[in-house]
Amino acid sequence: MIEYWNPQIERMPVEELKEIQGEKLCNLVKYVYEHSPFYRKRFDDAGIRPEDIKSLDDVTKLPFTYKKDLRDTYPTGMFCVPNNKLVRFHVSSGTTGKPTVVGYTDNDIKAWTTSLARAMTSIGVGRDDVMQIGYGYGLFTGGLGMHYGAEETGCTVLPASSGNTDRQIELMQDLGTTVIGCTPSYFLFMIEAAKSAGVSFQDDTDLRVGVFGAEPWSEEMRKRIEESAGIKAYDIFGTSELSGPLFTECREQKGIHIWADQFLVEVIDPDTGEPVPNGERGELVITTLVKEALPLIRYRIGDITVLNWDECECGRTHPRIMRVLGRADDMLIVRGINVFPGQVESVLMKIPEVGEHFMIIVDRINELDIMKVQIEMTDVAFSDKVNDIINLEKKVASALKGVLNIAVKVELVEHGSLPRSMGKAKKVIDNRKL
Ligand SMILES: [Zn+2]
Repeated sequence: MIEYWNPQIERMPVEELKEIQGEKLCNLVKYVYEHSPFYRKRFDDAGIRPEDIKSLDDVTKLPFTYKKDLRDTYPTGMFCVPNNKLVRFHVSSGTTGKPTVVGYTDNDIKAWTTSLARAMTSIGVGRDDVMQIGYGYGLFTGGLGMHYGAEETGCTVLPASSGNTDRQIELMQDLGTTVIGCTPSYFLFMIEAAKSAGVSFQDDTDLRVGVFGAEPWSEEMRKRIEESAGIKAYDIFGTSELSGPLFTECREQKGIHIWADQFLVEVIDPDTGEPVPNGERGELVITTLVKEALPLIRYRIGDITVLNWDECECGRTHPRIMRVLGRADDMLIVRGINVFPGQVESVLMKIPEVGEHFMIIVDRINELDIMKVQIEMTDVAFSDKVNDIINLEKKVASALKGVLNIAVKVELVEHGSLPRSMGKAKKVIDNRKL
């Protein structure tokens, strides 16, 4: 097993990395000014000339790019290359508005593949592995993105996509799958399906690693998944506008490495737009340093995270973002208090009787926000005694109140009654928005 995909780059001293970033940033600004009418106008409006950007520190002079910009210029108004230079499109689902279209040149696909090959190597996945990809293939970037990255490492890929779960579990045994990639919600669904088929991941399969993402999941959920399936579970991060899934944690499981020769990360105060000091919470902003078709300058990802430039125990010098527990868009404001679904998950998963599935329901009754959380009991803890149920509901409500600082109504529902998901799970019903 190899330790690094590209040791020279992955372990490069930080000063050298930053020098490369500075050079690439200056070139990028010239490139987009020349090739993208969108950016030329945005820079002109902000009074910025490409020659004003002379070093990495000048990045803060540049205007931000928002998801709205991609929607407003739908489908390809922000592209920097003509169609005959493109080799692929992906299209986001557009749950909250127009979809966004991302185009890739051949080099863009190669850079994306390299990013994931480095990531896979950092979790010890490679030539000797069989990776079952349970992310959707198609317009969504998850399936094909991981597919290319895994193949690049020499890993044998089983392009299972999502769904057909019983067959997936059968193939997992027959073909010796060692690595699974899918949403954490889908893996929970697989765990249940395997159980009812009488299959134990620990005893009946070679599964040893899970690469889970495309939705936020908590540290407590990681523990549950690792224990119940007997695997190491790693977080993967990316977003379709940047290419797709791009980065994972390394084996240390202490943050997600962002390849600094390809991407420039900033963490800013979402209200003022000013950078926050290293190690403080803020909104993630990423500039693509090598993309050709759709480069993005200071793209407001919207995730709340912490940036860490300290050298990792794995020996990689590239910065890490701490696991992302929520996107600003997912944040609920209940009675004036900010609530992330990830916080709720993290409280619930600490209570052993509570199962992995939950639903947050927010209503407004008589001008007052009411938050309810529906939970299931684990089969082990299952009880139909009224007292046990009431006690558990009380215990959960008080744990949630302790963390969220708001009163939450907890309702225990029958095991198996909350929706299961083969992709990204819906964990919130906000009736106030209807
Ligand atoms: Zn590391």
